[in-house]
Amino acid sequence: MNEKKHVVIIGAGVGGTATAARLSRQGFQVTVIEKNVYLGGRCSLLHQGDFRFDQGPSLYLMPKVFDELFADLDERIEDHLELLRCENNYKVHFHDGDLIQLSSDLARMKTEIQRIEGILGFGRFLDFLKEAHVHYTEGTPIAIKKNYASIWDLIQWRMSPYDAPAVYSLLQYTEFTDGIWYLLGGFNKVLQALETIATDKYGARFIYNTTATKINTKDRQMTGVTLETGQINQLDVHNIFLAESYQESFDKIFQHHSLPSQPSFYVNFPSRIDPTAAPPDKDAVIVLVPIGHMKDDDQKDYGELVRRARSMVLDVIHRRLGIQQFEDWIEHEMVNDPSTWQV
Ligand SMILES: Cc1cc2nc3c(=O)[nH]c(=O)nc-3n(C[C@H](O)[C@H](O)[C@H](O)COP(=O)(O)OP(=O)(O)OC[C@H]3O[C@@H](n4cnc5c(N)ncnc54)[C@H](O)[C@@H]3O)c2cc1C
Repeated sequence: MNEKKHVVIIGAGVGGTATAARLSRQGFQVTVIEKNVYLGGRCSLLHQGDFRFDQGPSLYLMPKVFDELFADLDERIEDHLELLRCENNYKVHFHDGDLIQLSSDLARMKTEIQRIEGILGFGRFLDFLKEAHVHYTEGTPIAIKKNYASIWDLIQWRMSPYDAPAVYSLLQYTEFTDGIWYLLGGFNKVLQALETIATDKYGARFIYNTTATKINTKDRQMTGVTLETGQINQLDVHNIFLAESYQESFDKIFQHHSLPSQPSFYVNFPSRIDPTAAPPDKDAVIVLVPIGHMKDDDQKDYGELVRRARSMVLDVIHRRLGIQQFEDWIEHEMVNDPSTWQV
Protein backbone atom coordinates (compact mmCIF):
# COMPACT_ATOMS: atom_id res chain seq x y z
CA MET A 1 0.00 0.00 0.00
CA ASN A 2 1.45 3.39 -0.98
CA GLU A 3 0.51 5.49 2.03
CA LYS A 4 1.58 9.08 2.43
CA LYS A 5 3.99 9.87 5.25
CA HIS A 6 2.30 11.98 7.91
CA VAL A 7 3.92 15.26 8.96
CA VAL A 8 2.70 17.28 11.95
CA ILE A 9 3.64 20.97 12.01
CA ILE A 10 3.27 22.93 15.24
CA GLY A 11 2.22 26.51 14.58
CA ALA A 12 0.38 28.22 11.72
CA GLY A 13 2.67 31.25 11.53
CA VAL A 14 4.23 32.14 8.22
CA GLY A 15 6.95 29.52 8.78
CA GLY A 16 4.55 26.67 9.57
CA THR A 17 2.06 27.60 6.87
CA ALA A 18 4.70 27.87 4.13
CA THR A 19 6.20 24.55 5.26
CA ALA A 20 2.75 22.94 5.26
CA ALA A 21 2.15 24.13 1.70
CA ARG A 22 5.54 22.91 0.48
CA LEU A 23 5.37 19.50 2.18
CA SER A 24 1.79 18.80 1.14
CA ARG A 25 2.82 19.75 -2.43
CA GLN A 26 5.61 17.17 -2.13
CA GLY A 27 3.07 14.48 -1.30
CA PHE A 28 3.20 14.38 2.50
CA GLN A 29 0.03 14.15 4.52
CA VAL A 30 0.27 17.35 6.56
CA THR A 31 -1.51 18.36 9.77
CA VAL A 32 -0.88 21.82 11.26
CA ILE A 33 -1.65 22.32 14.95
CA GLU A 34 -2.24 25.96 15.93
CA LYS A 35 -2.99 27.13 19.47
CA ASN A 36 -4.71 30.33 18.35
CA VAL A 37 -8.13 30.38 16.76
CA TYR A 38 -6.67 32.30 13.83
CA LEU A 39 -4.00 31.89 11.18
CA GLY A 40 -0.72 33.79 11.07
CA GLY A 41 0.96 34.07 14.47
CA ARG A 42 2.94 37.31 14.40
CA CYS A 43 1.74 37.80 10.82
CA SER A 44 -1.96 38.02 11.73
CA LEU A 45 -4.49 40.84 11.59
CA LEU A 46 -6.10 43.06 14.21
CA HIS A 47 -9.48 44.67 13.72
CA GLN A 48 -10.79 47.67 15.67
CA GLY A 49 -14.12 48.96 14.50
CA ASP A 50 -13.79 49.60 10.76
CA PHE A 51 -10.00 49.66 10.96
CA ARG A 52 -7.57 46.87 10.14
CA PHE A 53 -3.97 46.58 11.34
CA ASP A 54 -1.18 44.12 10.70
CA GLN A 55 -0.15 42.56 13.98
CA GLY A 56 3.48 42.31 12.86
CA PRO A 57 4.96 42.87 9.40
CA SER A 58 4.51 46.11 7.49
CA LEU A 59 7.35 45.61 4.98
CA TYR A 60 7.03 42.99 2.23
CA LEU A 61 10.71 42.37 1.53
CA MET A 62 12.59 40.01 -0.78
CA PRO A 63 9.68 39.55 -3.19
CA LYS A 64 11.63 36.96 -5.18
CA VAL A 65 11.58 34.60 -2.18
CA PHE A 66 7.76 34.77 -2.19
CA ASP A 67 7.64 34.37 -6.00
CA GLU A 68 9.76 31.22 -5.68
CA LEU A 69 7.55 29.86 -2.92
CA PHE A 70 4.39 30.16 -5.01
CA ALA A 71 6.22 28.79 -8.09
CA ASP A 72 7.28 25.76 -6.01
CA LEU A 73 3.57 25.19 -5.36
CA ASP A 74 2.83 25.38 -9.11
CA GLU A 75 1.00 28.66 -8.58
CA ARG A 76 1.42 32.22 -9.91
CA ILE A 77 1.67 34.70 -7.08
CA GLU A 78 -0.26 37.32 -9.08
CA ASP A 79 -3.29 34.99 -9.12
CA HIS A 80 -3.41 35.25 -5.31
CA LEU A 81 -1.90 38.54 -4.16
CA GLU A 82 -2.01 42.15 -5.24
CA LEU A 83 1.27 43.88 -4.44
CA LEU A 84 1.70 47.63 -4.46
CA ARG A 85 5.17 49.09 -4.75
CA CYS A 86 5.87 51.88 -2.24
CA GLU A 87 7.11 54.93 -4.12
CA ASN A 88 9.55 55.78 -1.35
CA ASN A 89 11.20 53.11 0.72
CA TYR A 90 11.37 55.40 3.78
CA LYS A 91 11.17 59.05 4.62
CA VAL A 92 13.86 59.55 7.26
CA HIS A 93 13.28 62.61 9.45
CA PHE A 94 16.28 64.30 11.09
CA HIS A 95 16.11 66.19 14.37
CA ASP A 96 16.59 69.56 12.58
CA GLY A 97 13.53 69.10 10.40
CA ASP A 98 15.46 67.97 7.31
CA LEU A 99 14.54 64.67 5.73
CA ILE A 100 15.93 62.22 3.21
CA GLN A 101 13.74 60.09 1.00
CA LEU A 102 15.24 56.65 0.49
CA SER A 103 14.21 55.00 -2.72
CA SER A 104 15.04 52.06 -4.98
CA ASP A 105 15.18 54.59 -7.85
CA LEU A 106 18.93 55.14 -8.35
CA ALA A 107 18.57 58.58 -9.92
CA ARG A 108 16.48 59.83 -7.02
CA MET A 109 18.90 58.32 -4.51
CA LYS A 110 21.80 60.08 -6.25
CA THR A 111 20.08 63.46 -5.97
CA GLU A 112 19.17 62.87 -2.32
CA ILE A 113 22.59 61.60 -1.22
CA GLN A 114 24.53 64.32 -3.06
CA ARG A 115 22.28 66.97 -1.47
CA ILE A 116 23.25 65.75 1.99
CA GLU A 117 26.67 64.06 1.61
CA GLY A 118 28.18 65.95 -1.31
CA ILE A 119 29.38 64.63 -4.63
CA LEU A 120 31.44 61.70 -3.21
CA GLY A 121 28.63 60.47 -1.01
CA PHE A 122 26.89 58.69 -3.86
CA GLY A 123 30.09 56.79 -4.66
CA ARG A 124 30.22 55.55 -1.05
CA PHE A 125 26.60 54.47 -1.39
CA LEU A 126 27.50 52.49 -4.53
CA ASP A 127 30.42 50.92 -2.66
CA PHE A 128 27.98 49.81 0.06
CA LEU A 129 25.67 48.29 -2.57
CA LYS A 130 28.57 46.49 -4.23
CA GLU A 131 29.77 44.91 -1.00
CA ALA A 132 26.23 44.16 0.18
CA HIS A 133 25.49 42.50 -3.16
CA VAL A 134 28.27 39.97 -2.49
CA HIS A 135 27.08 39.39 1.11
CA TYR A 136 23.46 39.04 0.00
CA THR A 137 24.24 36.65 -2.85
CA GLU A 138 26.49 34.48 -0.71
CA GLY A 139 24.55 34.92 2.53
CA THR A 140 21.00 34.14 1.34
CA PRO A 141 21.64 30.41 0.79
CA ILE A 142 23.22 30.20 4.27
CA ALA A 143 20.82 32.39 6.24
CA ILE A 144 17.48 32.05 4.44
CA LYS A 145 17.41 29.04 2.16
CA LYS A 146 19.35 26.58 4.29
CA ASN A 147 17.47 23.50 5.37
CA TYR A 148 18.10 22.87 9.07
CA ALA A 149 17.65 19.12 9.10
CA SER A 150 19.58 18.52 12.31
CA ILE A 151 20.80 20.46 15.34
CA TRP A 152 24.33 20.39 13.89
CA ASP A 153 23.12 22.49 10.95
CA LEU A 154 22.47 25.33 13.40
CA ILE A 155 26.13 25.51 14.32
CA GLN A 156 27.97 27.92 12.08
CA TRP A 157 31.71 27.61 12.67
CA ARG A 158 32.46 30.42 10.27
CA MET A 159 30.19 33.14 11.68
CA SER A 160 30.94 34.82 14.97
CA PRO A 161 27.86 36.03 16.89
CA TYR A 162 29.61 39.41 17.02
CA ASP A 163 29.33 39.64 13.22
CA ALA A 164 25.69 38.58 13.10
CA PRO A 165 24.23 42.12 13.29
CA ALA A 166 25.86 42.76 9.90
CA VAL A 167 23.22 40.40 8.50
CA TYR A 168 20.74 43.26 8.95
CA SER A 169 22.58 45.26 6.29
CA LEU A 170 21.23 42.70 3.84
CA LEU A 171 17.77 44.10 4.51
CA GLN A 172 18.87 47.56 3.36
CA TYR A 173 20.38 45.99 0.27
CA THR A 174 17.16 44.21 -0.72
CA GLU A 175 15.13 47.34 0.06
CA PHE A 176 17.28 49.35 -2.37
CA THR A 177 17.48 46.74 -5.11
CA ASP A 178 14.04 45.06 -4.94
CA GLY A 179 11.98 47.83 -3.34
CA ILE A 180 9.49 47.71 -0.47
CA TRP A 181 6.03 46.42 -1.27
CA TYR A 182 2.64 46.57 0.39
CA LEU A 183 0.18 43.74 0.23
CA LEU A 184 -3.38 44.79 -0.52
CA GLY A 185 -5.62 43.48 2.27
CA GLY A 186 -2.75 43.13 4.77
CA PHE A 187 0.19 40.77 5.12
CA ASN A 188 -1.93 37.91 6.41
CA LYS A 189 -3.18 37.55 2.80
CA VAL A 190 0.02 35.61 1.99
CA LEU A 191 -0.81 33.09 4.67
CA GLN A 192 -4.46 32.86 3.65
CA ALA A 193 -3.37 32.07 0.09
CA LEU A 194 -0.83 29.48 1.29
CA GLU A 195 -3.38 27.82 3.59
CA THR A 196 -5.92 27.63 0.76
CA ILE A 197 -3.38 26.07 -1.62
CA ALA A 198 -2.17 23.64 1.08
CA THR A 199 -5.69 22.52 2.05
CA ASP A 200 -7.76 22.76 -1.13
CA LYS A 201 -5.10 21.67 -3.60
CA TYR A 202 -2.84 19.40 -1.61
CA GLY A 203 -5.07 18.09 1.21
CA ALA A 204 -3.31 19.53 4.30
CA ARG A 205 -5.35 19.97 7.52
CA PHE A 206 -5.16 22.99 9.82
CA ILE A 207 -6.42 22.40 13.36
CA TYR A 208 -6.96 25.62 15.36
CA ASN A 209 -7.50 26.35 19.03
CA THR A 210 -5.29 23.39 19.89
CA THR A 211 -1.97 23.53 21.74
CA ALA A 212 0.72 20.91 21.24
CA THR A 213 2.17 20.09 24.67
CA LYS A 214 4.66 17.35 23.82
CA ILE A 215 6.51 15.81 20.90
CA ASN A 216 6.46 12.06 21.45
CA THR A 217 9.48 9.94 20.63
CA LYS A 218 10.37 6.29 20.61
CA ASP A 219 13.88 4.94 19.97
CA ARG A 220 15.00 8.49 19.11
CA GLN A 221 12.33 8.68 16.39
CA MET A 222 9.41 11.11 16.58
CA THR A 223 6.14 9.23 16.76
CA GLY A 224 3.54 11.96 17.24
CA VAL A 225 2.39 15.00 19.13
CA THR A 226 0.41 15.20 22.35
CA LEU A 227 -2.17 17.96 22.34
CA GLU A 228 -3.48 19.89 25.33
CA THR A 229 -6.85 18.28 24.71
CA GLY A 230 -5.21 14.88 25.15
CA GLN A 231 -5.77 14.12 21.48
CA ILE A 232 -2.83 12.37 19.90
CA ASN A 233 -1.65 12.27 16.37
CA GLN A 234 0.06 8.95 16.92
CA LEU A 235 -3.02 7.52 15.30
CA ASP A 236 -2.55 7.02 11.60
CA VAL A 237 -4.96 5.97 8.83
CA HIS A 238 -4.61 2.31 9.80
CA ASN A 239 -3.78 1.32 13.37
CA ILE A 240 -3.60 -2.12 14.97
CA PHE A 241 -3.56 -2.64 18.74
CA LEU A 242 -2.30 -6.10 19.60
CA ALA A 243 -3.41 -7.82 22.77
CA GLU A 244 -0.73 -8.79 25.26
CA SER A 245 -2.02 -12.37 25.43
CA TYR A 246 -2.07 -12.81 21.70
CA GLN A 247 -2.52 -16.60 21.73
CA GLU A 248 -5.40 -16.47 24.22
CA SER A 249 -7.25 -13.92 22.15
CA PHE A 250 -7.10 -16.10 19.04
CA ASP A 251 -8.23 -19.20 20.96
CA LYS A 252 -11.17 -17.29 22.35
CA ILE A 253 -12.28 -16.26 18.87
CA PHE A 254 -11.68 -19.44 16.91
CA GLN A 255 -12.30 -22.11 19.55
CA HIS A 256 -14.81 -20.48 21.88
CA HIS A 257 -16.44 -18.22 19.25
CA SER A 258 -16.52 -15.36 21.69
CA LEU A 259 -14.87 -12.09 22.65
CA PRO A 260 -11.34 -12.33 24.08
CA SER A 261 -10.77 -10.86 27.53
CA GLN A 262 -8.14 -8.63 25.89
CA PRO A 263 -8.98 -8.29 22.21
CA SER A 264 -6.58 -7.15 19.51
CA PHE A 265 -8.37 -4.58 17.38
CA TYR A 266 -8.04 -2.39 14.31
CA VAL A 267 -8.73 1.36 14.21
CA ASN A 268 -9.19 3.13 10.88
CA PHE A 269 -9.17 6.93 10.43
CA PRO A 270 -10.21 7.52 6.79
CA SER A 271 -10.23 11.27 7.47
CA ARG A 272 -6.47 11.25 8.07
CA ILE A 273 -5.90 10.60 4.38
CA ASP A 274 -9.16 11.91 2.94
CA PRO A 275 -10.43 15.16 4.55
CA THR A 276 -13.80 14.70 2.78
CA ALA A 277 -14.55 11.87 5.23
CA ALA A 278 -15.21 14.25 8.17
CA PRO A 279 -15.90 17.94 8.86
CA PRO A 280 -12.81 20.16 9.34
CA ASP A 281 -10.93 19.48 12.61
CA LYS A 282 -12.87 16.24 13.17
CA ASP A 283 -12.22 12.60 12.42
CA ALA A 284 -14.22 9.68 11.12
CA VAL A 285 -13.18 6.55 13.05
CA ILE A 286 -13.97 2.90 12.48
CA VAL A 287 -13.03 0.30 15.12
CA LEU A 288 -13.09 -3.40 14.27
CA VAL A 289 -12.98 -5.83 17.19
CA PRO A 290 -12.71 -9.49 16.11
CA ILE A 291 -15.17 -11.91 17.66
CA GLY A 292 -16.08 -15.52 17.00
CA HIS A 293 -18.62 -16.25 14.28
CA MET A 294 -22.31 -16.73 15.01
CA LYS A 295 -23.76 -20.18 15.33
CA ASP A 296 -27.33 -21.25 14.53
CA ASP A 297 -28.22 -21.78 18.18
CA ASP A 298 -26.34 -18.68 19.29
CA GLN A 299 -27.43 -17.45 22.71
CA LYS A 300 -24.81 -14.74 23.06
CA ASP A 301 -25.88 -11.39 24.42
CA TYR A 302 -24.35 -9.18 21.73
CA GLY A 303 -25.44 -5.99 23.48
CA GLU A 304 -23.34 -7.01 26.48
CA LEU A 305 -20.36 -8.08 24.33
CA VAL A 306 -20.45 -4.74 22.47
CA ARG A 307 -20.47 -2.86 25.80
CA ARG A 308 -17.42 -4.88 26.95
CA ALA A 309 -15.59 -4.47 23.65
CA ARG A 310 -16.27 -0.72 23.64
CA SER A 311 -15.01 -0.23 27.14
CA MET A 312 -11.87 -2.34 26.42
CA VAL A 313 -11.08 -0.29 23.28
CA LEU A 314 -11.43 2.99 25.21
CA ASP A 315 -9.29 1.58 28.01
CA VAL A 316 -6.48 0.49 25.64
CA ILE A 317 -6.48 3.85 23.86
CA HIS A 318 -6.33 5.58 27.23
CA ARG A 319 -3.57 3.38 28.67
CA ARG A 320 -1.37 3.08 25.60
CA LEU A 321 -1.77 6.54 24.07
CA GLY A 322 -2.76 8.63 27.06
CA ILE A 323 -6.00 9.76 25.45
CA GLN A 324 -8.57 10.14 28.20
CA GLN A 325 -11.34 11.98 26.43
CA PHE A 326 -11.78 9.72 23.42
CA GLU A 327 -15.33 8.84 24.52
CA ASP A 328 -16.24 12.52 25.11
CA TRP A 329 -15.29 13.39 21.54
CA ILE A 330 -17.74 10.91 20.01
CA GLU A 331 -20.53 12.83 18.26
CA HIS A 332 -22.19 9.97 16.38
CA GLU A 333 -21.80 6.30 17.04
CA MET A 334 -23.07 3.27 15.20
CA VAL A 335 -22.42 -0.38 16.03
CA ASN A 336 -22.58 -3.48 13.88
CA ASP A 337 -22.31 -6.85 15.61
CA PRO A 338 -22.48 -10.36 14.06
CA SER A 339 -26.29 -10.29 14.21
CA THR A 340 -26.25 -7.33 11.80
CA TRP A 341 -24.98 -9.62 9.07
CA GLN A 342 -27.33 -12.52 9.83
CA VAL A 343 -29.29 -13.48 6.71
C1 LIG B 1 5.91 44.05 15.39
C2 LIG B 1 6.54 43.19 14.34
C3 LIG B 1 6.87 43.73 13.12
C4 LIG B 1 7.45 42.94 12.13
N1 LIG B 1 7.73 43.49 10.90
C5 LIG B 1 8.16 42.71 9.88
C6 LIG B 1 8.27 43.21 8.56
O1 LIG B 1 7.96 44.35 8.31
N2 LIG B 1 8.68 42.38 7.58
C7 LIG B 1 9.01 41.07 7.84
O2 LIG B 1 9.39 40.37 6.90
N3 LIG B 1 8.92 40.56 9.09
C8 LIG B 1 8.48 41.34 10.11
N4 LIG B 1 8.33 40.84 11.37
C9 LIG B 1 8.77 39.48 11.60
C10 LIG B 1 7.73 38.46 11.13
O3 LIG B 1 6.44 38.85 11.54
C11 LIG B 1 8.07 37.15 11.79
O4 LIG B 1 9.41 36.82 11.48
C12 LIG B 1 7.20 36.01 11.29
O5 LIG B 1 5.83 36.36 11.29
C13 LIG B 1 7.48 34.82 12.18
O6 LIG B 1 6.77 33.72 11.70
P1 LIG B 1 6.94 32.31 12.38
O7 LIG B 1 6.02 31.37 11.67
O8 LIG B 1 8.37 31.96 12.43
O9 LIG B 1 6.52 32.50 13.91
P2 LIG B 1 5.13 32.97 14.54
O10 LIG B 1 4.45 34.00 13.71
O11 LIG B 1 5.43 33.32 15.94
O12 LIG B 1 4.25 31.66 14.48
C14 LIG B 1 4.36 30.64 15.43
C15 LIG B 1 2.97 30.03 15.57
O13 LIG B 1 3.08 28.86 16.36
C16 LIG B 1 1.98 28.82 17.26
N5 LIG B 1 2.41 27.98 18.38
C17 LIG B 1 3.48 28.18 19.18
N6 LIG B 1 3.57 27.19 20.08
C18 LIG B 1 2.55 26.33 19.83
C19 LIG B 1 2.12 25.09 20.43
N7 LIG B 1 2.77 24.54 21.46
N8 LIG B 1 1.02 24.49 19.92
C20 LIG B 1 0.35 25.03 18.87
N9 LIG B 1 0.72 26.19 18.26
C21 LIG B 1 1.80 26.82 18.74
C22 LIG B 1 1.77 30.29 17.64
O14 LIG B 1 0.46 30.52 18.13
C23 LIG B 1 2.00 30.97 16.29
O15 LIG B 1 0.82 31.09 15.53
C24 LIG B 1 7.73 41.59 12.38
C25 LIG B 1 7.39 41.03 13.62
C26 LIG B 1 6.78 41.82 14.58
C27 LIG B 1 6.38 41.18 15.89
